[in-house]
Amino acid sequence: MKKIKIVETAFRDAHQSLLATRMRTRDMLPIAEEMDNAGFYSLEAWGGATFDTCIRYLNEDPWERLRSLKEHVHKTPLQMLLRGQNLVGYKHYPDDIVKKFVEKSYENGIDIFRIFDALNDIRNMEYAIKIAKDQGAHVQGVISYTTSPYHTMENYVEFAQELEALNCDSVAIKDMAGLISPKNTYELVKTLKEETDLMVNLHCHCTSGMTPMSYYAACQAGVDILDTAISPLSGGASQPPTESIIAALKDTPYDTGIDLKTLTGIKKYFEEIKKKYSSLLDPIAEQIDTDVLIYQIPGGMLSNLVSQLKDQNALDRYEDVLEEMPKVRQEMGYPPLVTPTSQIVGIQAVMNILGGERYKMVSNEVKEYFKGFYGRPPAPVDKKITKKIIGDEVPIDTRPADILEPQWERYKKEGEEANIISKEEDIITLALYPAIAPKFLKGEAEEEVLALPEDSAGYSGPVEIPSEYSVEVDGDLFDVKIVPTGFISIEETDSPNNSGPVEGEVTSTMQGMILKLKVDIGDKVNEGDVVAVIEAMKMENDIHATHSGKVEDILTAEGETVNAGDTLLVIR
Ligand code: MN
Repeated sequence: MKKIKIVETAFRDAHQSLLATRMRTRDMLPIAEEMDNAGFYSLEAWGGATFDTCIRYLNEDPWERLRSLKEHVHKTPLQMLLRGQNLVGYKHYPDDIVKKFVEKSYENGIDIFRIFDALNDIRNMEYAIKIAKDQGAHVQGVISYTTSPYHTMENYVEFAQELEALNCDSVAIKDMAGLISPKNTYELVKTLKEETDLMVNLHCHCTSGMTPMSYYAACQAGVDILDTAISPLSGGASQPPTESIIAALKDTPYDTGIDLKTLTGIKKYFEEIKKKYSSLLDPIAEQIDTDVLIYQIPGGMLSNLVSQLKDQNALDRYEDVLEEMPKVRQEMGYPPLVTPTSQIVGIQAVMNILGGERYKMVSNEVKEYFKGFYGRPPAPVDKKITKKIIGDEVPIDTRPADILEPQWERYKKEGEEANIISKEEDIITLALYPAIAPKFLKGEAEEEVLALPEDSAGYSGPVEIPSEYSVEVDGDLFDVKIVPTGFISIEETDSPNNSGPVEGEVTSTMQGMILKLKVDIGDKVNEGDVVAVIEAMKMENDIHATHSGKVEDILTAEGETVNAGDTLLVIR
């Protein structure tokens, strides 16, 4: 009798998908031992967005979380999601950082590394795979699943064979938006089982509503591992309910061998946790969104923006954004929509709509994407758009990380000089998040206040100020203010806003953090020069000089959070 293995995602993907990745370690530890005893194949507990969230919002050391979990979980392997050369960030890191990160992750308790690349570019995965294999870990290579004219069964199988050639122990089909149909699941799983010797793991989100049927089709096709989430944290943008899948497979050739009764306590525990975090629960994330089947985009990506637009009777924008997303995706060569391409495509679509002109506003990430810095897109990118964004520059054709300088020694020195390093892992944290890590490592970060459940009433109610939006990106909520000049335009001449910038002032029109200041007081600048870089919604955006002159005053600093309308510097 074949036993299906179950990966429980409560500690990682489930709360990333439903609760903005905000679950605290202190809410995981009390139930960790019971989960260890339940008979799961593994507990997905680390990586993905959890690292970022820990230092950005929770004032928690992600490394400490991993060690604490390991102290409580002895039998069940701990699993992490690793974004290939992006590790747990949103850009490529050089090989020396990848090596240190993977080594330290293993040393602190990760047993199974699930490694993916948003573009399925194996060059972005091979180094992390090698280092994880060197540690003796179980390495799972990932197929980021999407549908497009370029994503064929042959391509997927070929990719899985490349992963096998790199000595991966298993392969996961990562279906971020629940796009895979039962029929396609059956064919893909069956072909992978026939054409490779790898264990096959299906990882789906319930977004489209088809997922439980696809899971059963996967069983019939010979799948080895299924990802599920304990019922209070399941469904919608999360995984199918653990208990339901176990019950459905009971007394079939696919029985999981897990006793439903052993999960009762765990279920009760997470019911309370869900109540505690209910202010973060996006009602849309909990629902089935069949738009994903028509537009081939994860509806949850823009769900918040969409709901706000609806509240203002501005549904014309909703259609615009829905129509724009697949266009942008096609022009960018049909990338699967997963971190970071989901943000890159999603925010570009929003900018194209709100900026008035397509590709007038382009984030640095989009520029780099077209320059080939993220890797090889699945299909050719649009030539005209490329020209508009990068001009005559020729995109690179090498492995993207090959053009990156080593960074370990630099951050080691920087961190030690700033006296913020107390263990080697801190250097990694600094290298991954140089903008936000120093504050955290200095001990100056504060834990975000968790709103009481009753405070969340009216969350989706009418919006008082129609220029403010909440945009959800990969489970994180970002507040965005839009001024009448356009999404990130800072040209004062365009601004009919009464409280807008005074002559000579460069203001920010988005809320975000100043990553870099590129000028000093006294510098001469020309109109259009990049004077600063702001990070908003995890994307970097250049801020340009509004006219030529001399920098008279700088009113912000690197690392500072600014609001829309804040004056950043004065040019006379
Ligand atoms: Mn997932």
